[in-house]
Amino acid sequence: MLSPALDTPLHINTPLLLSPHIVLAEANVWLKIDALQPAGSFKNRGIGVACQHYVRNGAQILVSSSGGNAGIAAAFAGSQLSVPVSIVVPENAPQTAIDAMRKFGAEVEVNGSTWGEAHEKALRVVESNKHKGAVLIHPFDDPLLWPGHATLIDEVIAAGCTPDAVVLSVGGGGLLTGVARGLAAHNLSDCEIVAVETCGAASLAAAIKAGMPVMLDEINTIANTLGAKQVSDAAYQATQSHPVTSQVVSDRQALDACTRFLQEHRVLVEPACGAALAAVYEPAPVLKDKQNILVVVCGGMGVSLPQLSAWEAQLSVEKEA
Ligand SMILES: *Cc1c(COP(=O)(O)O)cnc(C)c1O
Repeated sequence: MLSPALDTPLHINTPLLLSPHIVLAEANVWLKIDALQPAGSFKNRGIGVACQHYVRNGAQILVSSSGGNAGIAAAFAGSQLSVPVSIVVPENAPQTAIDAMRKFGAEVEVNGSTWGEAHEKALRVVESNKHKGAVLIHPFDDPLLWPGHATLIDEVIAAGCTPDAVVLSVGGGGLLTGVARGLAAHNLSDCEIVAVETCGAASLAAAIKAGMPVMLDEINTIANTLGAKQVSDAAYQATQSHPVTSQVVSDRQALDACTRFLQEHRVLVEPACGAALAAVYEPAPVLKDKQNILVVVCGGMGVSLPQLSAWEAQLSVEKEA
């Protein structure tokens, strides 16, 4: 018998809040609080859709290469669909993320010093388990993710909010691609997307500069879930077919935004999400004439109060050095 979870979304319709705290002169600031998703981030959306699709088509094992929220979302999806999940994570994956994956019943293997190496290993795991029905769940570059991520825009429109700007953060660009497609589907092709990265993980900014996706030499940021060295082709294409403004913030700005957001809204988010918030706390110039600014509060489980303090300490040491 097929699990009933195949037919119902694995994500929830998250609260859309007109922020009483983030007040810009001319604009309403709307917060789509995907930090409240069951796996802690917007990844529930696309990963949930992708996992359902693969299981419906016979997948017996879901293999993920993400040491972060995509892996957690895959673990959650597998638990809902009663399908085993195997996750290869790089050595720098936060313990909180690994714990969350295991809590949702996934098997976690640490392999490789970077996401790229973990991903290579995950591909080999899929290859050698193909006959058992293993499939790869890519963290950001699979067309199945995009309609899932686009549900975020569907919900905002259904709630009666028509944004003229969307602020979101970019790692490999799955969220950006899904949101751009969601906006286009609602005839909002001229709605500006402000795509925010931290300066140690600015792979979209580099792609726009080069005129194609390029590989960064290294990742150096506390916003580790933004740490894709290269954005997907689809994400780069989205910057060509949709008005996208790339914005780069410092780790300091991202971290301060997390702290301020926690104080104001009592929700704790990763610096990956703080990056997007930083672009409204210190408004990007392109937001100046906008009336309804939607901020994707993408969330993330790789954060805790002690971790926030540790990043504080790390950044103040780096400043003195
Ligand atoms: C994955 C993730 C991102 C980046 O999403 P991409 O689709 O890789 O661009 C941003 N914030 C959080 C919390 C994430 O988990």
